[in-house]
Amino acid sequence: MTTDVRREVRDEAHQLVEASRRLFEAGVMSHSGHANLSVRLDAERFMLTPGFVRGLRPEDLATVSLDGQVLEGELRSVSMEIIAMHGAVYRARPRVGSVIHTHSPSATAFAVAHRPLPCRTEPMLRFGQAEDVPVVPWGPRGSDVSVRGVVDALTHSPTTAAVLLANHGLLVFGSDPADTAHLVVAIEEGAEAELAAAAIGGAVDFPAGALESVRASIARVAS
Ligand SMILES: [Zn+2]
Repeated sequence: MTTDVRREVRDEAHQLVEASRRLFEAGVMSHSGHANLSVRLDAERFMLTPGFVRGLRPEDLATVSLDGQVLEGELRSVSMEIIAMHGAVYRARPRVGSVIHTHSPSATAFAVAHRPLPCRTEPMLRFGQAEDVPVVPWGPRGSDVSVRGVVDALTHSPTTAAVLLANHGLLVFGSDPADTAHLVVAIEEGAEAELAAAAIGGAVDFPAGALESVRASIARVAS
């Protein structure tokens, strides 16, 4: 039993390390390489990056409880501050299996401008963010104000898979680390395209019914 549990934990850790590697490879990290990633283990616990992600190894991850206790491993103070932010998402969304926070530059431009990021690109529509990414009001990282803002945004936008943290960055959540990293890339691309389109007259909305058309097309391929 113990061996099985350890193997399961190791698999989750590998998935998270692979997701962080993909984010660097995709070029969506900011210059500092700052990010934190987590993966849910069960209803009470998740694994979290220790305060850095460059050169991350599975054994570097810490296991923490949803209410903020470090159960295994060590976290730098920078990561201690963000346990509550990750925990709040897992608590609010029982089906979420992974949470990723980055300072991806174009998405962060929207966060700094306090502008919701519209869904106007095919990858956002297709890969899980078929609506505007809402902006959460600024609060010091990990503070009650900041965490409450995230929870409020999830309540007001019950189907959003991402939020922009005002004057800070991006927070994305999904079923597992690979899908969540994929959506981070789709959102950063969407933000980049939105900013580029502004120079040539501005991005244009999808036609009405676009999401339904995409869903129908996915169902056809899957059947
Ligand atoms: Zn940050």
